[in-house]
Amino acid sequence: MKKTITSHDLKNLVNEAHAQVKDLKGGKNANYIPFLDKIDSNLFGISVCLPSGEIIEAGDTNYVFGIESVSKVYTAILVLRQYGAQAVLDKIGADATGLPFNSIMAILLENDHPSTPLVNAGAISADSMVKPVGNSDAKWKAITDNMRELSGSDLTLLDELYKSESETNFNNRSIAWLLKNFNRIYDDPDMSLDLYTRQCSMGVTAKQLSIAACTIANNGLNPVTKQQVFDPSLSPKITSLIATVGFYEHTGDWLYTSGVPAKSGVGGGVLGVIPGLFGIAAFAPPLDEAGNSVKAQAAIKYIAQRLNVNVFGGD
Ligand code: GLU
Repeated sequence: MKKTITSHDLKNLVNEAHAQVKDLKGGKNANYIPFLDKIDSNLFGISVCLPSGEIIEAGDTNYVFGIESVSKVYTAILVLRQYGAQAVLDKIGADATGLPFNSIMAILLENDHPSTPLVNAGAISADSMVKPVGNSDAKWKAITDNMRELSGSDLTLLDELYKSESETNFNNRSIAWLLKNFNRIYDDPDMSLDLYTRQCSMGVTAKQLSIAACTIANNGLNPVTKQQVFDPSLSPKITSLIATVGFYEHTGDWLYTSGVPAKSGVGGGVLGVIPGLFGIAAFAPPLDEAGNSVKAQAAIKYIAQRLNVNVFGGD
């Protein structure tokens, strides 16, 4: 693997990836959340952030879209900051599920263990852990402060998405109460579910996601604000969670073909981490059948392959 990647390596490459992938067909916007179904399917942006703080971008990188499941990475980081790595492992877990994002089976798989904070069951559990337990407003402040610190600027709630999701999240409601049944939720289930639904409804840009990705790649030091957001020892834990389950039931295929630990969301965003080298994000609404953006996957693969970066090695 190359030891450093410079903006010189990336400038033409990011534009080239955008040009190569922008007309790629296939996939459909998420339609189980009505708001997401209405988003322009042609939007497409790629942003790469380097530890120097330089950002190299192409396309719709300032368009604000629903963060959805990529928010699970943020809240996982928050509970890791608040509780430490061992407590998160004990209370939630760090295993692959091999299951769709919204699976109720994720709770039942391992003796009532929600498995990982990066699927819905474990993410609702993570929201329940956020301190101060019992205080919804203060918990929400901790969640959004953490999002800002990781992304370098505020994310804003997309009210219409929040409403749309709250009206249709029947499956997640049952997950929250099943967690309660198995003592795997650590605050009020309805409050935890609402925090989860709200965090998924935050608006983010590809540029902001790439800064958060680079903060993870850069051992917790935000490359733009220069704030040490989390302890460097947490960085490999976060990247391992992302690698293990970031693309749900397609995670193995994704890692095998890309070599990039990455987390997707049904809003069309993907956040990828190359430890020590850079953070990358891409956004395009049409999704494959597992809920992963078709163009974002193609763009990230194109860039990683051309730069010859792969966390599993190779020359
Ligand atoms: N808010 C969505 C849900 O819970 C997130 C799913 C995703 O992005 O994978 O259904």
